[in-house]
Amino acid sequence: MKKTLDPAQEALLTRNQGLEQDKIEIQAARQYADAIIETVREPLLVLDSDLRVQRANAAFYRLFQVSEAETHRRLLFELGNGQWNIPSLQALLLEILPTNHWLTDYEVEHVFPRIGRHIMLLNARRIEERQLILLAIEDVTERTRAIQANERLLRQREEFLAITSHELKTPLTSLKGYIQLVQRRARTGGEGEDAATDLLVRMDRQVDKLTHLVSSLLDVTMLQAGKATWHTHWFDLNLLVSDILADLSQTTTRHQLRSEGMIQPQVFGDRDRLGQVLTNLLTNAIKYSPQATPVVVTLSADADKATVGVQDFGTGIVWEQQAQIFERFARGTDAAASAAPGLGLGLYIAAQIVEQQGGHMWVKSQPGDGSTFFFTIPLKPLQAS
Ligand code: ADP
Repeated sequence: MKKTLDPAQEALLTRNQGLEQDKIEIQAARQYADAIIETVREPLLVLDSDLRVQRANAAFYRLFQVSEAETHRRLLFELGNGQWNIPSLQALLLEILPTNHWLTDYEVEHVFPRIGRHIMLLNARRIEERQLILLAIEDVTERTRAIQANERLLRQREEFLAITSHELKTPLTSLKGYIQLVQRRARTGGEGEDAATDLLVRMDRQVDKLTHLVSSLLDVTMLQAGKATWHTHWFDLNLLVSDILADLSQTTTRHQLRSEGMIQPQVFGDRDRLGQVLTNLLTNAIKYSPQATPVVVTLSADADKATVGVQDFGTGIVWEQQAQIFERFARGTDAAASAAPGLGLGLYIAAQIVEQQGGHMWVKSQPGDGSTFFFTIPLKPLQAS
């Protein structure tokens, strides 16, 4: 026989059933919220009103390399030995958020002990009824670095265009002047052969400058695209050095160019290109040592490579610029570099030529005492890859 309930029991039962239903709904809502938190790819924190971590998602643990035990129920600013104790974040959570209720794309840059310097965009929202704060963290470090690198490249290009147009225009203006002079003299009957020869020599020098500039631009393009052609063979490096020193000694009366050391084995590479490297280093040594006379080329070899050093006793290069000068369009910022003409391409081209033939280039320098540029040439042909 079915037991009948009195009205009080009936009410209790209905209430219990209601509570059970509420519990199921709350559980479902929690599962739903959990699923959202875990699905979001950005690190996400749920903080209570005391700024203790109620929840953190997997993306948070992954990015900041912390565990749930180190995070859950901890005060945000004490997490991971205070790594979140960031003044601008404190200002955001304690001062701005209470009045604004939500914040979008608030940028924070900070050095975290485990993951280093990171740039993050924070989005925060206060949920008033539940006394909770949602804090979404977007790591924009890579994106910001890429944008900065791009901006640097654009700036370099602008500078390059400005310098190139200036450098190309100067010899053209001189050439134009000389041509006009020659024309005027030809019309008026001339002033003798000596004057004409002198003008022609000057014009020839300007044409050389232009040719050099245009070849540098072509070299950069070809080397960068990996399209330079190489004519490699065995050759005597001692002879190459003495040939180039003899040629360059004709161009300077102030400097004494000499070499030290001889090497026994022949080296393998593109003789003309390596000659170009040596000429470039020697021309720089002359250009950046206006007050000092000796420039010394040293030669040495070990089992698998020959090393060439080009030493001057000139201005030297400050430590911070020593790595940069091998980059494209990099020019020194000191007075010596500003006074000397150039596109900042010579060392880039030289280092590329050396590296693409299996060698390496570096510099040792002391400001005020001078610089030595070194490069190596393999004694064996490069293995084809
Ligand atoms: P450029 O001479 O046209 O500026 P380079 O690529 O040959 O271009 O050189 C880049 C920079 O390196 C120069 O602007 C100069 O500041 C520095 N540099 C190169 N060689 C020397 C040297 N022997 N002594 C001092 N500074 C040098």
